[in-house]
Amino acid sequence: MIEAEQNRLAAAAVRIETRAWIDGEVCHAASGETFATVAPSTGDHLADVAACGPEDVDRAVRAARRVFDDGTWSRCDPTDRKVVLLRLADLLRKHGDELALLESRDSGKTIRDCRNEVAHEVPNFFQWYAETIDKSFDRIAPTGPTAFAAIVKEPIGVAGLIVPWNFPLLMAAWKLAPALATGCSVVLKPAEQTPLTALRLGELAAEAGLPPGVLNIIPGLGETAGQAIGRHPDIDTVSFTGSGEVGAYLLGYAAQSNRKPVGLELGGKSPFLVLEDARITDSLIEAAVMAAFWNGGQNCSANMRQIIHRHHHEEFAARVTARVASLVVGDPLDPATDIGALVTAEHRDRVAGYVAAGRSEGARLVRGGETLQGNPGFFLTPAVFEGLKPDMRIAREEIFGPVLGMMVVDSDDEALRMAVDTDFGLHASVFTRDLDKAFRFARALPVGTVSVNSFSEGSIATPFGGYRRSGSLSRDNGLEAMAQYQQTKTVWIGLGADQ
Ligand code: NAD
Repeated sequence: MIEAEQNRLAAAAVRIETRAWIDGEVCHAASGETFATVAPSTGDHLADVAACGPEDVDRAVRAARRVFDDGTWSRCDPTDRKVVLLRLADLLRKHGDELALLESRDSGKTIRDCRNEVAHEVPNFFQWYAETIDKSFDRIAPTGPTAFAAIVKEPIGVAGLIVPWNFPLLMAAWKLAPALATGCSVVLKPAEQTPLTALRLGELAAEAGLPPGVLNIIPGLGETAGQAIGRHPDIDTVSFTGSGEVGAYLLGYAAQSNRKPVGLELGGKSPFLVLEDARITDSLIEAAVMAAFWNGGQNCSANMRQIIHRHHHEEFAARVTARVASLVVGDPLDPATDIGALVTAEHRDRVAGYVAAGRSEGARLVRGGETLQGNPGFFLTPAVFEGLKPDMRIAREEIFGPVLGMMVVDSDDEALRMAVDTDFGLHASVFTRDLDKAFRFARALPVGTVSVNSFSEGSIATPFGGYRRSGSLSRDNGLEAMAQYQQTKTVWIGLGADQ
């Protein structure tokens, strides 16, 4: 409790920047308009933030283009880019606690998760790509003696990055770190629900020595600022994380403007499979609970569809339900809290609507799915359903909230059929003690990440993205992420010509 109170006091003292960051300076929206950002755990108004629109996006793109073309960042020695990005990583670590408190207040995420993501993972992303860029070699193609052919990578130009609210600064870092490392200039739009940590990042990047115009941060609404990025004729690529609906809009904007490539990281409906030979251990139960409820289930790779072999069902259901009963829902600034607030009242009501739909479709609500009586924050207790059927809405649509559903199967083959019966393909977890089965399932599941005997999304070093409607061919993370921000050029040099 003492630590919770200390966090509350420290969070209230964190300075809040509400202005956009364009061409190395803070500024208000050209229109002078603002939008409110609210603390999800209390419903309190936190700040009025610059509501940028097309005019601001255009100014940011002109700054980004200018500095891209003059080569200050895009053509500098990669070691110089590395030095600046390493300084940024250090500054992010130094200000990690302040940023984590701000993120927790703005998003309703637990301070425990924010400290891990914002103070630890975000700086590590900048460090990893900083250290990669001066060790990335181009290639020489095989030719006869009359030619020399180099295949070189070049930064694509101005990158528009649009990110969601569930991991506000981490999703920004997933895109910013490789984009900046490759030499691109960037226009970043944070989600309107959670703009505050990204705005602080602008100041830290300038302090680290990033030249003006290389990083521009445009808070604003999706339909105005986001659409202006999607439609801008001088943005060379867009990388987007968010809903499938908005991903489809961005493909349309690109088609209607300059046909820029659009990288899409979208939603999921991921399965968690417990096969016949698995052992129901404490770590399996912990993985099942975290897979569904980490970040309050506001996670694109949440394993909400838990497909359990009948042989294990009774024990699994009893142990999962008991563990869920021990989860603490409440003040995100209390380090004892496991599940904070959902991001907005509308989102909380949307998730509660899915809980109601599950009951009316005949699934059995074992526990949870309730608001916290008398609490003005946007809380919902973790809901556990048994008797989920593949055709129910809660088994097919992405809920993006604290809801776990169990489906019972009579064979591993039935588990596989059920797992692939979805439009999505982001993630899957498989529990088995049989190595052959683990490989067979890993290859048979049409998803971007398969986690065997654990719930994991991988690491900085491993690419993350989706099959089917969960994304496009683009990947965040790993060396693969750099492809979103690079062009490939062939330089063919004729040798022995009479020049
Ligand atoms: P969203 O699509 O509503 O918003 C995402 C971003 O797009 C926000 O910045 C928003 O302002 C912007 N936006 C909204 N309308 C726009 C428009 N017309 N043009 C341009 N930009 C627009 O998604 P959300 O509700 O913020 O996030 C939840 C979704 O994100 C879920 O579907 C989740 O699965 C997905 N997600 C995916 C990943 C992944 O890596 N695959 C990670 C996190 C979240």
